[in-house]
Amino acid sequence: MHTKTCPACNHTLPIEEFGNNRQTPDGLMYYCRNCAADKQREYRKANPDAAAKAKAKYLAKVRARNDARRVPEAVE
Ligand SMILES: [Zn+2]
Repeated sequence: MHTKTCPACNHTLPIEEFGNNRQTPDGLMYYCRNCAADKQREYRKANPDAAAKAKAKYLAKVRARNDARRVPEAVE
């Protein structure tokens, strides 16, 4: 079983406990899911404006994807 040590909590965990990140050399997040969620929460608290913008951007992306996927209803 592959494991990785989280630098935040210092726990060695199975790689399933790490999210995917294509920007890192090993393709996994630096921190375990728990710590990544904590850090995200802290970031949102420290940067409410940036967090709101990121959320709006994310929602716009999801909406655009949903619109692209939507197949027009067949009209009889
Ligand atoms: Zn951790």
